[in-house]
Amino acid sequence: MPAYKVCFDRILPRDLRTGAEPVANAQATPRAAFERRKLWPLGATLRVAFLDGDAQQHEIVRRYAPTWSKYANIKLDFVNNQNPDIRITFDPNDGSWSYIGLDCKTIPRGMPTMNLGWQDEGVVLHEFGHTLGMIHEHQNPTGGIKWNKEAVYRDLSGPPNNWDKATIDNNMFAVYARDQVNSTRVDKLSIMLYAIPKEWTLDGFNSKPNEALSTTDKKFIGDPRNYPLTGPRAQ
Ligand SMILES: [Zn+2]
Repeated sequence: MPAYKVCFDRILPRDLRTGAEPVANAQATPRAAFERRKLWPLGATLRVAFLDGDAQQHEIVRRYAPTWSKYANIKLDFVNNQNPDIRITFDPNDGSWSYIGLDCKTIPRGMPTMNLGWQDEGVVLHEFGHTLGMIHEHQNPTGGIKWNKEAVYRDLSGPPNNWDKATIDNNMFAVYARDQVNSTRVDKLSIMLYAIPKEWTLDGFNSKPNEALSTTDKKFIGDPRNYPLTGPRAQ
């Protein structure tokens, strides 16, 4: 049995209260998607700092995270302090996660906005995708993965995730409201899609771990509605 290393969305209590975050009921289709109201200003430079970790861990982040800037009008600046926008920890016991887009600005100074419980190209690109406002592919408003919920509960309630039922419901089965997101067509290769073993679905749907940005990821991050390299952001 492989260990399923999956990221989880950090959802602010405010959003849980208002129900503005994922709503359970609709079906999910894997697509590239952004949470619109959480996008950073076009052309912004995000200051990124490490709260802990060693030189090798920092190097992996420095090497891969700026890949997004090749395709999007947004920059990363690695700093030592200067009130960083993005604050990264490397706690191996806390999984991997990031707050989504502008939510990072609401986290108290000194608290992490991202944890990288393991470090490789895939997880760095994935978590920075969240930082830029991307959501999980399988939480898109339309389409439908037919989940084998028993299998998902069983696998994700154990190590290394140890999620409780509410966390699994929020991260696997809940989807976003249609008017919350900008999305594209199905993209099985997106960095924002979990590796979904076929045992987790009832209809044979499955996907492999994606370690690099897909063609659609690259195109979509630079879409006029998101972070176009030229011209203003479309409304
Ligand atoms: Zn994620």
